Amino acid sequence: MYKVFKFGGASVRDAEAIRNVVRILKKYPNDKLVVVVSAIGKTTNGLEELWKAYTKGSDKTTTILQSLQESHLRIANALFEPGDPVFDRLNDLWVTIEWVLEEEPHPDQNYTYDQIISVGELLSSTILSAFLEKEGVSNTWMDARDVVITDDHYREASVLWDRVESRCASKVIPLFEQSDIVVTQGFIGSTLDNNTTTLGREGSDYTAAIFGYALNAAGIWIWKDVPGILTADPKHFNNVIKIERLTYREAIEMTYYGAKVIHPKTIKPIQNKLIPLYVRSFLDPEVDGTMISAMDELKLPPIIVLEDNQAMLHISSKDFSFIGEHHLSRIFGLLAKHHLKINLMRNTAISFSVCFQYDDRKINRFLEELGDEFTVTMDRELELITIRHYNAATVKEMKKNKVILFEERIRDTIQMVTRPSPVIVRK
Ligand code: ASP
Ligand code: MG
Repeated sequence: MYKVFKFGGASVRDAEAIRNVVRILKKYPNDKLVVVVSAIGKTTNGLEELWKAYTKGSDKTTTILQSLQESHLRIANALFEPGDPVFDRLNDLWVTIEWVLEEEPHPDQNYTYDQIISVGELLSSTILSAFLEKEGVSNTWMDARDVVITDDHYREASVLWDRVESRCASKVIPLFEQSDIVVTQGFIGSTLDNNTTTLGREGSDYTAAIFGYALNAAGIWIWKDVPGILTADPKHFNNVIKIERLTYREAIEMTYYGAKVIHPKTIKPIQNKLIPLYVRSFLDPEVDGTMISAMDELKLPPIIVLEDNQAMLHISSKDFSFIGEHHLSRIFGLLAKHHLKINLMRNTAISFSVCFQYDDRKINRFLEELGDEFTVTMDRELELITIRHYNAATVKEMKKNKVILFEERIRDTIQMVTRPSPVIVRK
């Protein structure tokens, strides 16, 4: 049986972290592992900056590229002897970016984005695979783009499941005849015409689920810098506790509402094949983390999910006509077309309000196409707070010092759109 391990950017952030990943992998000598790795540390953000600079025609591209190259080189120098063949392989990858930067801009900027951004995972997986080999852990590096076949919706590609399943059978399984570990990249895929695509930011968890699904894996292990799934983000809250077990249902709800611990798209494929998912700490690899699997609903403590950078758009008719089905269907059609994921919504007689993650690019296109048929206003810099399994004390605590713009309760979930209260300065 296959197991899929996913290591995120923080778990390979520097040479010491990569050594730690190797230590973890050495503990599983009897398993067949697909190891999915993200780009090192904040590389993807850096590559995003590079792409932005390039599309704006800015001269910053060279500096950004150099600093990314240097940070990778620092890590490689700490792990390998001078002259190791890995340096040439890394160089070749940087050259693919340099080519893109030298070319005339492609008409589809999202296409260019994927060609640049995907290199982060190619670099990290190359380093990890070579270092494992150096440490005596036999493994095979695999290009995920030979397997994760997608449509051509660049930057947010959809997986073509049948293709992925047949490629897993024809390309991945035979690799296990060479070694028990296959190292590959999260986040990236390819169209049938061999154009590189990506699956959406933080998409490496999803890649792990894709391989798990297509290989009918025994389980998926996501190695993180937290001990498991917690009742709230420890960066924002005190007194958080680890949740030992979660149902697929609870996990998909939590991540849908914005819990950052795993990517929301991860749950469906594994639920469909009842593959358990384990979230564990790479800092404390022996300790059980959270297990997500099929089981009866559990009694859970309040779980708080906070999403910032929310916007609320208020769309109303200009002539006092009701916002009826035909308006709504037009609005929804445009929201879908521009991939604006609705977090909350409400309609009244002549208005429709919707809350989503603020994204300049998508919202401007949406508004442009909506035209001037409606009056539109927008509130920004809001927070969306979701409490699953809420109780009065938690709700009270969460409302402290906040202006509540919107609140909705459905069964065991309460959601609020809030704004930090204005600071009143006395003169
Ligand atoms: N490296 C990609 C990102 O940072 C994918 C991932 O980390 O999951 O978005
Ligand atoms: Mg990342």
